[in-house]
Amino acid sequence: MGSRLIMLGPPGAGKGTQAVKLAEMLGVPQVSTGDMLRHAKSAGTPMGKEAARYMSEGKLVPDEVVIGIVDERLKELGSGGYILDGFPRTVAQATALDELGHVIDAVVSIEVANDYLVERITGRLACSCGQTYHRTNKPPKAKGICDACGSDLSVRADDTESVVRERLEVYAEHTAPLIQYYQAKHLLKPIDGVGEMEVVLKRILKELESVRKG
Ligand code: AMP
Repeated sequence: MGSRLIMLGPPGAGKGTQAVKLAEMLGVPQVSTGDMLRHAKSAGTPMGKEAARYMSEGKLVPDEVVIGIVDERLKELGSGGYILDGFPRTVAQATALDELGHVIDAVVSIEVANDYLVERITGRLACSCGQTYHRTNKPPKAKGICDACGSDLSVRADDTESVVRERLEVYAEHTAPLIQYYQAKHLLKPIDGVGEMEVVLKRILKELESVRKG
C-alpha cells in the first residue's frame, strides 16, 4: 500500500527520469502516457496516428483518448501500485481518475523554474526502453547508446525549441491547475527539482516515507 503515485511537473522537470528510478526502487510499474502514445504512434494504430497530430505540435491529446488508455492499463495492474508519469494533465483527466475509482496515495510535484526547462529539454536524449539522458547533465557512457539496454538513443520529435515553448504554455494553462486540485485533497508533495538527479530522488523518497508507512 501507499505506492499509487502521480508525478506532476512541467516538461523538463525530470518527471520521467525520477519516475523510472522510483518505479525500480518501489518495485511498481511506471505508467507513462507519453510512452504509450509514442508506442501507439510507432505501431501505426489509428489512435497512434490521431495522437501524433497533437504531439508533434506540443498540444494535448484529447482527454477521452488518454483517459481510455490509462483506465485500461490501471485495471490490468489491479491494486498493486503504480507511478503515473504524465497523467493526469488536465483537471478533467484528474476528475475522471477519481470517478473511475482509481485511488491515489500521493502526488509528487517537481518544481523547476521556467528558465531551466528549455535548456534541460533541448539537450535531452531518449531510449525506447524508457531511460533518458542529457547531452551535458547526464551523458550516456558511450555516445548515442543507452547504458541500460544498448539501443541507439534519439532526440524526441517534440523536443525542439518551438515545440518545447508550446508545451510549456500548455502546461501553464492546463496542467498547473492540478497543483491546487491535489493540494485541496491534501495529496500534494512539493519537491525542489533543481539539483543532481540523485539529490532530487532523495528529497522525493523522504517526502514519501510518511505516505508509504501510512
Ligand atoms: P510526455 O512524454 O509526458 O512529455 O508526453 C509527450 C506528449 O504526449 C505531450 O506533449 C502530449 O502531446 C501527449 N500526452 C502525454 N500524456 C498526455 C496526457 N495525459 N494528456 C494529453 N496528452 C498527453
